[in-house]
Amino acid sequence: MSDITLINIKEEILSENRELAARLRSDLDEKSVFLVNFMSSPGSGKTSLIVRTLEHLKDQFQMAVIEGDVDSAVDAERVAGEGFPAVQIKTGGSCHLTAAMVEKGLDALTLEEIDLLFLENIGNLICPVGSDTGAHLNVALLSIPEGDDKPLKYPKIFQTADAFVVNKTDVADFFDFDEDAFRRRVGRLNPEAPIFGLSCKTGDGVAPWCSWLSDRVGAKRP
Ligand code: MG
Ligand code: ZN
Repeated sequence: MSDITLINIKEEILSENRELAARLRSDLDEKSVFLVNFMSSPGSGKTSLIVRTLEHLKDQFQMAVIEGDVDSAVDAERVAGEGFPAVQIKTGGSCHLTAAMVEKGLDALTLEEIDLLFLENIGNLICPVGSDTGAHLNVALLSIPEGDDKPLKYPKIFQTADAFVVNKTDVADFFDFDEDAFRRRVGRLNPEAPIFGLSCKTGDGVAPWCSWLSDRVGAKRP
Protein backbone atom coordinates (compact mmCIF):
# COMPACT_ATOMS: atom_id res chain seq x y z
CA MET A 1 0.00 0.00 0.00
CA SER A 2 1.39 3.40 -0.90
CA ASP A 3 1.22 6.36 1.42
CA ILE A 4 -1.38 8.93 0.67
CA THR A 5 -0.97 12.54 1.63
CA LEU A 6 -4.37 13.88 2.52
CA ILE A 7 -4.80 17.62 2.55
CA ASN A 8 -8.10 18.62 4.02
CA ILE A 9 -8.61 22.08 2.52
CA LYS A 10 -11.84 22.80 4.31
CA GLU A 11 -10.38 21.98 7.73
CA GLU A 12 -7.25 24.03 6.99
CA ILE A 13 -9.27 27.07 5.95
CA LEU A 14 -11.51 26.77 8.98
CA SER A 15 -8.64 26.49 11.42
CA GLU A 16 -6.81 29.46 9.84
CA ASN A 17 -10.03 31.43 10.12
CA ARG A 18 -10.45 30.46 13.79
CA GLU A 19 -6.90 31.59 14.60
CA LEU A 20 -7.30 34.93 12.87
CA ALA A 21 -10.71 35.47 14.50
CA ALA A 22 -9.21 34.83 17.94
CA ARG A 23 -6.47 37.34 17.21
CA LEU A 24 -8.98 39.97 16.07
CA ARG A 25 -11.00 39.40 19.25
CA SER A 26 -7.98 39.97 21.48
CA ASP A 27 -6.96 43.10 19.48
CA LEU A 28 -10.49 44.41 19.96
CA ASP A 29 -10.34 43.59 23.68
CA GLU A 30 -7.15 45.62 23.99
CA LYS A 31 -8.87 48.61 22.39
CA SER A 32 -12.10 48.06 24.39
CA VAL A 33 -14.20 47.55 21.26
CA PHE A 34 -17.19 45.21 21.60
CA LEU A 35 -18.05 43.52 18.29
CA VAL A 36 -21.54 42.17 17.58
CA ASN A 37 -22.18 39.92 14.55
CA PHE A 38 -25.73 39.95 13.12
CA MET A 39 -26.84 36.94 11.10
CA SER A 40 -30.16 36.25 9.36
CA SER A 41 -31.85 35.39 6.06
CA PRO A 42 -31.99 38.17 3.46
CA GLY A 43 -34.82 40.57 4.28
CA SER A 44 -35.25 39.78 8.00
CA GLY A 45 -34.22 43.33 8.89
CA LYS A 46 -30.54 43.24 9.94
CA THR A 47 -29.87 46.75 8.67
CA SER A 48 -33.10 48.07 10.19
CA LEU A 49 -32.23 46.49 13.55
CA ILE A 50 -28.75 48.00 13.43
CA VAL A 51 -30.14 51.45 12.60
CA ARG A 52 -32.72 51.22 15.43
CA THR A 53 -30.03 50.09 17.86
CA LEU A 54 -27.70 52.93 16.82
CA GLU A 55 -30.49 55.47 17.40
CA HIS A 56 -31.30 53.99 20.78
CA LEU A 57 -27.76 53.71 22.16
CA LYS A 58 -26.18 56.81 20.61
CA ASP A 59 -25.88 58.64 23.94
CA GLN A 60 -24.24 55.64 25.61
CA PHE A 61 -21.65 54.43 23.13
CA GLN A 62 -19.44 55.48 20.25
CA MET A 63 -20.60 53.17 17.49
CA ALA A 64 -19.77 52.15 13.92
CA VAL A 65 -20.89 49.48 11.45
CA ILE A 66 -19.19 47.07 9.07
CA GLU A 67 -21.65 45.97 6.38
CA GLY A 68 -21.14 42.76 4.45
CA ASP A 69 -22.87 42.30 1.12
CA VAL A 70 -22.35 40.28 -2.02
CA ASP A 71 -22.68 43.49 -4.03
CA SER A 72 -23.77 47.14 -3.61
CA ALA A 73 -23.25 49.60 -0.78
CA VAL A 74 -26.88 50.50 -0.03
CA ASP A 75 -26.75 49.28 3.57
CA ALA A 76 -23.57 51.21 4.40
CA GLU A 77 -25.07 54.32 2.75
CA ARG A 78 -28.13 53.98 4.97
CA VAL A 79 -25.99 53.71 8.13
CA ALA A 80 -23.74 56.59 7.05
CA GLY A 81 -26.89 58.62 6.37
CA GLU A 82 -27.69 58.26 10.08
CA GLY A 83 -24.35 59.85 10.88
CA PHE A 84 -22.33 56.79 11.94
CA PRO A 85 -19.04 55.56 10.48
CA ALA A 86 -19.78 52.75 8.02
CA VAL A 87 -17.57 50.39 6.06
CA GLN A 88 -18.96 48.27 3.24
CA ILE A 89 -17.33 44.94 2.46
CA LYS A 90 -18.32 43.65 -0.97
CA THR A 91 -17.64 39.94 -1.01
CA GLY A 92 -18.11 39.62 -4.78
CA GLY A 93 -20.13 36.44 -4.56
CA SER A 94 -18.94 34.89 -1.31
CA CYS A 95 -21.91 34.02 0.91
CA HIS A 96 -20.43 34.70 4.37
CA LEU A 97 -17.88 36.99 6.04
CA THR A 98 -14.52 35.53 7.00
CA ALA A 99 -12.19 36.86 9.69
CA ALA A 100 -9.86 38.09 6.91
CA MET A 101 -12.66 40.24 5.47
CA VAL A 102 -13.51 41.58 8.93
CA GLU A 103 -9.84 42.44 9.48
CA LYS A 104 -9.93 44.64 6.36
CA GLY A 105 -13.08 46.30 7.68
CA LEU A 106 -11.41 46.96 11.05
CA ASP A 107 -8.38 48.48 9.29
CA ALA A 108 -10.69 51.03 7.67
CA LEU A 109 -12.00 52.29 11.04
CA THR A 110 -10.47 54.35 13.86
CA LEU A 111 -10.98 51.73 16.58
CA GLU A 112 -9.75 54.04 19.35
CA GLU A 113 -12.92 56.09 18.80
CA ILE A 114 -15.34 53.15 18.93
CA ASP A 115 -16.79 51.19 21.88
CA LEU A 116 -19.50 49.24 20.11
CA LEU A 117 -19.12 47.91 16.59
CA PHE A 118 -21.79 46.12 14.56
CA LEU A 119 -21.08 43.63 11.83
CA GLU A 120 -23.84 42.81 9.35
CA ASN A 121 -23.12 39.39 7.90
CA ILE A 122 -24.30 38.18 4.49
CA GLY A 123 -27.97 37.17 4.51
CA ASN A 124 -28.09 33.40 4.88
CA LEU A 125 -28.64 31.04 7.79
CA ILE A 126 -26.07 28.39 6.93
CA CYS A 127 -22.41 29.20 6.37
CA PRO A 128 -22.02 32.41 8.44
CA VAL A 129 -22.49 30.11 11.44
CA GLY A 130 -19.34 28.12 10.70
CA SER A 131 -17.08 31.13 10.13
CA ASP A 132 -15.90 32.91 13.28
CA THR A 133 -15.72 36.67 12.62
CA GLY A 134 -13.93 37.64 15.83
CA ALA A 135 -17.19 38.92 17.31
CA HIS A 136 -17.84 38.90 21.07
CA LEU A 137 -21.54 38.33 20.56
CA ASN A 138 -23.45 36.52 17.82
CA VAL A 139 -27.05 37.58 17.28
CA ALA A 140 -29.42 35.65 15.03
CA LEU A 141 -32.38 37.54 13.67
CA LEU A 142 -35.50 36.26 12.02
CA SER A 143 -38.82 37.82 11.13
CA ILE A 144 -42.43 36.80 11.66
CA PRO A 145 -43.15 36.06 7.94
CA GLU A 146 -40.32 33.47 7.87
CA GLY A 147 -42.21 31.15 10.20
CA ASP A 148 -41.77 29.49 13.59
CA ASP A 149 -40.22 26.37 12.06
CA LYS A 150 -36.80 27.92 11.32
CA PRO A 151 -35.17 26.26 14.39
CA LEU A 152 -36.19 22.87 12.96
CA LYS A 153 -34.74 23.64 9.53
CA TYR A 154 -31.54 25.45 10.54
CA PRO A 155 -30.64 24.01 13.97
CA LYS A 156 -26.95 25.00 13.87
CA ILE A 157 -27.52 28.75 14.02
CA PHE A 158 -30.08 28.27 16.79
CA GLN A 159 -27.65 26.13 18.78
CA THR A 160 -24.77 28.59 18.56
CA ALA A 161 -26.12 32.16 18.63
CA ASP A 162 -25.95 34.09 21.91
CA ALA A 163 -29.28 35.86 21.46
CA PHE A 164 -32.28 35.90 19.11
CA VAL A 165 -34.34 38.76 17.77
CA VAL A 166 -37.73 38.17 16.16
CA ASN A 167 -38.49 41.20 13.99
CA LYS A 168 -41.70 42.42 12.33
CA THR A 169 -44.01 41.75 15.27
CA ASP A 170 -46.19 44.54 13.80
CA VAL A 171 -47.42 42.11 11.10
CA ALA A 172 -48.00 39.16 13.48
CA ASP A 173 -51.78 39.26 12.89
CA PHE A 174 -51.30 38.40 9.22
CA PHE A 175 -49.08 35.35 9.70
CA ASP A 176 -49.42 32.04 11.52
CA PHE A 177 -46.28 32.48 13.59
CA ASP A 178 -46.75 30.44 16.78
CA GLU A 179 -44.59 32.24 19.32
CA ASP A 180 -44.89 29.52 21.99
CA ALA A 181 -43.84 26.83 19.52
CA PHE A 182 -40.93 28.99 18.40
CA ARG A 183 -39.76 29.59 21.97
CA ARG A 184 -40.04 25.86 22.76
CA ARG A 185 -38.01 24.94 19.68
CA VAL A 186 -35.28 27.48 20.42
CA GLY A 187 -35.31 26.50 24.11
CA ARG A 188 -34.57 22.87 23.25
CA LEU A 189 -31.52 23.87 21.18
CA ASN A 190 -30.24 26.79 23.24
CA PRO A 191 -31.91 27.18 26.63
CA GLU A 192 -29.71 30.07 27.83
CA ALA A 193 -30.12 32.48 24.93
CA PRO A 194 -32.68 35.28 25.32
CA ILE A 195 -35.31 35.94 22.63
CA PHE A 196 -36.46 39.51 21.90
CA GLY A 197 -39.62 40.15 19.89
CA LEU A 198 -39.66 43.62 18.35
CA SER A 199 -40.68 45.74 15.40
CA CYS A 200 -38.03 47.84 13.69
CA LYS A 201 -40.86 49.60 11.85
CA THR A 202 -42.77 50.84 14.92
CA GLY A 203 -39.93 50.68 17.46
CA ASP A 204 -41.99 48.41 19.73
CA GLY A 205 -39.76 46.16 21.85
CA VAL A 206 -36.51 47.85 20.77
CA ALA A 207 -35.81 49.21 24.29
CA PRO A 208 -35.51 45.83 26.13
CA TRP A 209 -33.22 44.49 23.41
CA CYS A 210 -31.00 47.58 23.61
CA SER A 211 -30.82 47.54 27.39
CA TRP A 212 -29.82 43.85 27.36
CA LEU A 213 -27.13 44.60 24.75
CA SER A 214 -25.92 47.60 26.71
CA ASP A 215 -25.57 45.40 29.84
CA ARG A 216 -23.55 42.89 27.85
CA VAL A 217 -21.16 45.59 26.66
CA GLY A 218 -20.92 46.98 30.21
CA ALA A 219 -20.16 43.54 31.67
CA LYS A 220 -17.14 43.23 29.39
CA ARG A 221 -15.62 46.51 30.57
CA PRO A 222 -12.87 46.61 33.17
MG1 MG B 1 -28.96 44.58 5.17
ZN1 ZN C 1 -20.81 31.04 2.74
